[in-house]
Amino acid sequence: MAKKEKQRLSRLRFNFGHLLEGNRGAYRDVELDYPEIQVSEDVSLAPLQGSFRATRTGEGIYLSGKLTSAIETECTRCLETVHLPISFQLDDLFYYPASTVPPGELSVGDEGIIDLAPLIRELSLLEIPMQVYCREACKGICVECGKNLNEGPCDCVFDDIDPRMAALRVLLDEEEES
Ligand SMILES: [Zn+2]
Ligand SMILES: [Zn+2]
Repeated sequence: MAKKEKQRLSRLRFNFGHLLEGNRGAYRDVELDYPEIQVSEDVSLAPLQGSFRATRTGEGIYLSGKLTSAIETECTRCLETVHLPISFQLDDLFYYPASTVPPGELSVGDEGIIDLAPLIRELSLLEIPMQVYCREACKGICVECGKNLNEGPCDCVFDDIDPRMAALRVLLDEEEES
């Protein structure tokens, strides 16, 4: 029972101990289908689906597959929460034993455990572009009052709404000064 509970707490940890004991080329296919999963303190994915193959190689365990998901982020313009669909490839070698791991590379942990959470967190975050919009024509927030303009106009009154008028005003001011 205790073992089962532990697995539920860390659902992205997989035991490949038996693969390490097997011959080169031995593999195991793993299906992932989580409606929602907290990958790390800052990343929650809903859903996380897909499959990958874990293959025993001379150097360790090689994982390859494709996962699809959606990650919570915020709109660059209006800061509303956006559930951004993402997908990414697993194409990673986990070295084993630990003594053979080149610097900066991944390794199989104690007793053949691979914790995919850090890798999936990193791959997910890489899928978030610099600019994310909640909708194509997001109106953003008012720079004066902070109201989300997608919900309707605010009551702010601007003197120079037309940027061309603003440019003209600058010219006129400059002339007045000289
Ligand atoms: Zn937006
Ligand atoms: Zn406003």
